[in-house]
Amino acid sequence: MSTGEEMPATAIYTEPVLRRVEVAAPRTAEAAVAEADAIKISTEHVSIMYGEKVAVRDVSLTVEARSILALIGPSGSGKSTFLRCFNRMNDLIPGASVQGEVCLEGENVMDPDVSVVELRRRVGMVFQRPNPFPMSIYENVAYGPRRRGQKDRRKLDELVETSLKRAALWDEVKDDLRRKSGLALSGGQQQRLCIARVLATDPEVILMDEPASALDPVSTLRIEELMRELREAYTIVIVTHNMQQAARVSDVTAFFTMAEDRAGYLVEVGPTGRIFTRPNERLTEDYISGRFG
Ligand code: ADP
Ligand code: MG
Repeated sequence: MSTGEEMPATAIYTEPVLRRVEVAAPRTAEAAVAEADAIKISTEHVSIMYGEKVAVRDVSLTVEARSILALIGPSGSGKSTFLRCFNRMNDLIPGASVQGEVCLEGENVMDPDVSVVELRRRVGMVFQRPNPFPMSIYENVAYGPRRRGQKDRRKLDELVETSLKRAALWDEVKDDLRRKSGLALSGGQQQRLCIARVLATDPEVILMDEPASALDPVSTLRIEELMRELREAYTIVIVTHNMQQAARVSDVTAFFTMAEDRAGYLVEVGPTGRIFTRPNERLTEDYISGRFG
């Protein structure tokens, strides 16, 4: 169990980032269109099974563009499985099956004619354990663009530099780009390198599965800061078992449960500030106040 789970909910609550303004006036058609535009991802009745076993149960939610959604809940509640549906990583798991719709800008990524390679470029992924390739820092970042056919040396140099800058790693590595292996970096630097590698492929959405759980506290804060910066340009979905982290970085929090034979069930989703102070559901309250892990 993570350390903060014994803390009262009010202590977990940091700055509220209430981006959703509830408007009572009737919406104009224009406002409705703008609102639809702002939705980057939506899932409709998504259920995911491993063989007969249900891991995610009928989940419908939306993620606004340029926001951070945190998926929280006890171990085994289906967070990683659900995260993987956004770029069809579950396709790679034998026996996994996905039902329902997963839409990226209104298009169902489950459609058989969707290019999975292109989908995974648009929706990049960062894993729990940093996994740089056994090659130089430069080649790690240039890898994706090269595979997509970019051969122009100057363009690659530029892309490597901007990606490393965006990932807040440039200053630490700029003198060793070609000499140093990605594997020779510290854990926190490796994770930022992996983020730079994803950014170099020009994604729209970044999925992060417990991206800081293998890192020390200082590196963790670095990654959190970076996420807040990246949010200006990207839509981020993060799985975290660290509730303070969810409270610090995310705009919206979705709470999944394992309770009462409802494993993989989405208990509630809402603005992070509210979820951590005034949850609607007893199950959420018990979890955030540490009564149920
Ligand atoms: P979380 O990320 O919330 O800890 P997971 O999505 O990893 O949960 O797992 C949800 C459920 O699915 C768990 O019961 C887990 O054992 C099961 N599961 C996860 N991955 C696989 C797999 N590759 N094959 C079979 N069952 C799996
Ligand atoms: Mg997981």
